[in-house]
This record gives sequence, C-alpha cells and structure tokens, in this order.
Amino acid sequence: MGLDSHFGFDLDDTLDHPSIVDILLSVYARGHPVTVISGSKRKTLEAVKRKQMEVLGVPEKVPLYIVHGATFAEIADGKAELVLSLGIDLFIDDHPLFCSTIREKAPGVVVLRVSGPRVQRSKGRAEKLLGGHDGPG
Ligand SMILES: [Mg+2]
Repeated sequence: MGLDSHFGFDLDDTLDHPSIVDILLSVYARGHPVTVISGSKRKTLEAVKRKQMEVLGVPEKVPLYIVHGATFAEIADGKAELVLSLGIDLFIDDHPLFCSTIREKAPGVVVLRVSGPRVQRSKGRAEKLLGGHDGPG
C-alpha cells in the first residue's frame, strides 16, 4: 500500500482496544487519511461518539460518520456504501456481519476483524462525562 492509503475504523469495541487506537495514531501521524465510521441502532448523538473518540485519544480532526439503521443488516449496508464512497482501503471492525458485508460489497477493500478480550467500553464513560444518557430509541 502506498502512503496515501485511507484507513477506516469502527468505534465501539474496535477503538475501545488501546492497541487499535495505537494503529490509528501511527498511520495518522504518518499522514494517512483516517476516518471513523460508527453504526447505531439508536439515535446516538454525535456528541456522545465525539466524546468517546476524545476519551480514547483519537485526534479531533479525524472525521466521524455515523450510520443509523433499524437493523444490523441496514447498518452493514450503510457502512459498506460509505467505505466505498470514501475510498477507504483498509477497514477495521469487530462486528462479523459488518465485516462480511463490506467484504462482499467492497471486494477491493482490506477488512480486518477485531477479536480479543473484553474491554472497557468508551460509550459509558462518554455519556457520564456529558452528564447523562442520550435517551432511548
Ligand atoms: Mg463495533
């Protein structure tokens, strides 16, 4: 891959792993384009996701896209479309359906699936810092 390779990262249960944040920071520091694409079945506020990124140490300038969907299948399709339209070369996600959908719909993209120990999720910390939950639904 050339130095212009575009790296994409899921947020929940992906960037919650400090070692994955290390990968993001390394490629970002080398000047690669880096994008975070996070799915949500709830109307999660962008402020919560942004705060999650902040507590995880993701640089403020890294773009964030939130894919909303009623089902995981809808979110998977939305993520795959975004990965394609943004020209992402390598995408890292923990969700098996999201990974398989991106592999199927964006065959030119390298997809890495995260697995490993449970980690402290940043979402709860972000919501607490923002002074409460972002509501149901
Ligand atoms: Mg995830």
